[in-house]
Amino acid sequence: MCKERRERERERSVEMEEVRLVFIPAPGSGHLVSTLQFAKRLIDREERISITILAIQSAFPTTLSSYAKSVAASEPKIQLLDVPKPQPEHPPAQDSFKSPAKSFSLYIESHLPNVKKIVTSLVSSSHASKSLDSIRVAGLVVDFFCVSMVDVAKELHLPTYLFMTSSAGYLALMLHLPIRHKHNEVEPKDSDPEWLIPGIVHPVPPRVLPVALTDGSYSAYVKVASRFREARGIIANTFVELETYAINSFFHDGQTPPVYPVGPVIDLEDCQAHSNLEQAQRDKIIRWLDDQPQSSVVFLCFGSMGSFGAEQVKEIAVGLEHSGQRFLWALRMPPPKGKGMMPIDCPNLEEVLPDGFLERTNGKGLICGWAPQVEVLAHKATGGFVSHCGWNSILESLWHGVPIVTWPMYAEQQLNAFRMVKELGLALEMRLDYKKGGGEVVRADEIERAVVAVMDKESEVRKKVKEMGEMTRKAVKDGGSSFASVGRFIEDVIGNNCGSN
Ligand code: UDP
Repeated sequence: MCKERRERERERSVEMEEVRLVFIPAPGSGHLVSTLQFAKRLIDREERISITILAIQSAFPTTLSSYAKSVAASEPKIQLLDVPKPQPEHPPAQDSFKSPAKSFSLYIESHLPNVKKIVTSLVSSSHASKSLDSIRVAGLVVDFFCVSMVDVAKELHLPTYLFMTSSAGYLALMLHLPIRHKHNEVEPKDSDPEWLIPGIVHPVPPRVLPVALTDGSYSAYVKVASRFREARGIIANTFVELETYAINSFFHDGQTPPVYPVGPVIDLEDCQAHSNLEQAQRDKIIRWLDDQPQSSVVFLCFGSMGSFGAEQVKEIAVGLEHSGQRFLWALRMPPPKGKGMMPIDCPNLEEVLPDGFLERTNGKGLICGWAPQVEVLAHKATGGFVSHCGWNSILESLWHGVPIVTWPMYAEQQLNAFRMVKELGLALEMRLDYKKGGGEVVRADEIERAVVAVMDKESEVRKKVKEMGEMTRKAVKDGGSSFASVGRFIEDVIGNNCGSN
């Protein structure tokens, strides 16, 4: 392109209007990290976009707000505003532990009036100052769990874009849920026939449906799902090459808003680890990995909420020892009664592990609490991953070409595990329907077999995961499918001056 033309284009783009997007992430690490990383990606890509993040505090103590602060501090075009807790404070629901999805969505809804106040003031300040630096609010980008915020957007004549932090397969399920509910209003039972879900290749056994559909959260969940189609667009943390079948299904049903597959959106710098871990602990883990042979370590990690009781911990230890593999194990246990829901690091390893385990595995295995997962998966010593199949963990492991063996625990992880094994052939099966808190104990011999299988250097799954790893990187590069989707999303945002839909 000649210099003059470039200059003219630059001048034109500077003249063009800037817009502000208001992001409302859900306060959970699996939600917040990808939403904020997407915000960063937009800023990097389009200089006319500024972003205001409305931070709803987690109901439980976490380090999420320090993560959000660090992201905002590193980007002048990202502004972070705390949403005040509702007064009187939303009381923790009696069934917080029994039906976490229900209490989570009620908790978020309780912030609606305060969100409305903030967005109204952002909109009116942009109207009031018709000066050069006025920035039009072009829409809300809300986590799918915050879909109730559509009401705020509608009142202010703004469009809402949903941000799906999970898979296109899960989106297919959510879009199907209200349709099924019209014919059958009862929550599913494990003994029901398999579900035929447009966008998911294989009929889905009810035992792998999200735990929320059977734990007392059913109606809250249907309520959330029934609003998805009110969005102007749905941004999904996935990519066409990974979930071709599901993504194509959205283009053909004639009812779903445009879907923008923009993933993988992951935090490759692992800032989350820095806010959750002492530097010394992180260094210890990475130094230990540095001393291990290439692809020799199996990594066990179960997400932000995964934990096991003492009996299960012993079985894992025996399984690992018998497998003969080197291991890095992020071991977290349920909190003591009355101390919230967040898992804790094991207070006394000697007490819960089999006698002599630590001595026998000294040098061969390392146990930690919170792990710097992205860095661990990126490390050349890591060869396999026993994972709870949270969607971020799946994307991170694909990115780094590390195969997973499935041990789902909560949320939609059973569905993720089912599809990764049966539909996509990108994971090895240990369990598909294990549920945290269900009282089941997986025995050591099964764990041993799973660990040996995932460390097999010649497995078909390993080859496929490596190939998919290359595709993940291509998808987000200039010319890739997700890069193009981000471009389409930006065009829609910049071009839309037409109020809510
Ligand atoms: N994570 C981590 N260290 C841990 C546990 C989790 O860094 O010990 C990170 C992991 O890399 C991922 C996120 O926390 O980015 C978990 O998200 P995912 O969707 O996999 O599961 P969730 O926590 O939402 O169940």
